[in-house]
Amino acid sequence: MNILIAEDDAPSRFMLQSLLTKWGYDVTVAADGDEAWKILCDPVHPLLVILDWLMPGIEGPEIVRRLRMKEGNNPHYVIIMTSGTSENSLALALDSGADDFITKPFNNSELRARVNVGCRITRLHEALAEKIYKLESATETIFELARTDELTGLHNRRSFNETFTLVLSSARRHGHPLSLISIDLDHFKTVNDTYGHTIGDMVLKEFSDLLKDMVRIEDVASRWGGEEFIIMLPNTASEAAAALAERIRSNFEQQPSSASPFAVTASFGVAQLQNGDDEDSLIRRVDDALYTAKREGRNRVVTV
Ligand SMILES: [Mg+2]
Repeated sequence: MNILIAEDDAPSRFMLQSLLTKWGYDVTVAADGDEAWKILCDPVHPLLVILDWLMPGIEGPEIVRRLRMKEGNNPHYVIIMTSGTSENSLALALDSGADDFITKPFNNSELRARVNVGCRITRLHEALAEKIYKLESATETIFELARTDELTGLHNRRSFNETFTLVLSSARRHGHPLSLISIDLDHFKTVNDTYGHTIGDMVLKEFSDLLKDMVRIEDVASRWGGEEFIIMLPNTASEAAAALAERIRSNFEQQPSSASPFAVTASFGVAQLQNGDDEDSLIRRVDDALYTAKREGRNRVVTV
């Protein structure tokens, strides 16, 4: 445990330093308030701090006040040293935000006991900060997993729907175009029935990787379920969406799947947001386009 001692009186500072070192602590020293504050502003600095109340430069209570303002999940433990013995100086020390105080001249065993308490609390703070950090990153992972399709790594339906509501209302407010591409792999049941679900899953993954490669960063490519996919294209009119759909269709057709022994193709529907559309009506129209593509012989792009 590293402890910062800020004390302008050299004999006291040396005595404190030698005592704490003898008790097994690492010690950093500052001879005035400005030096102490400089050390505390370093990204890595002692969290256990013994501060003299009166020092040249920034005084003890002001350092505590500044520390309290900037510290986050990993607070400092501050012991203020006062010369006065009045109850008032004790109250002032604690009111300034200090955790504890000690009166000079101090008794060595009392100092040791108070530093031990500070050390214990600092370790608890550190353990707590570590747990908070782990909890926050776990929450982030859970948040991510809840929105990702496990097999393909694309957005799942929940993620699509959440983003769709936001993107649609923004498109409507700013009068920007918004298009959807609805996709269904052709005769996919035959792949599963003939070669099994493992091969079927590999085809779904290959197609998803192709989507990830071909869409822009702002597009939301999602697995809608089974062998159905949907792509949301903000700031895109239906002509550009249909051109992208055609590029995906032709790429998929031309790059035979390494997983499936026979060529798998896909059908595409494209629709653009129109006045009066809501989420449901736009999805209905893009699905109608997809059914038309299926009905007209599959492996094609139909725009409504
Ligand atoms: Mg002093």
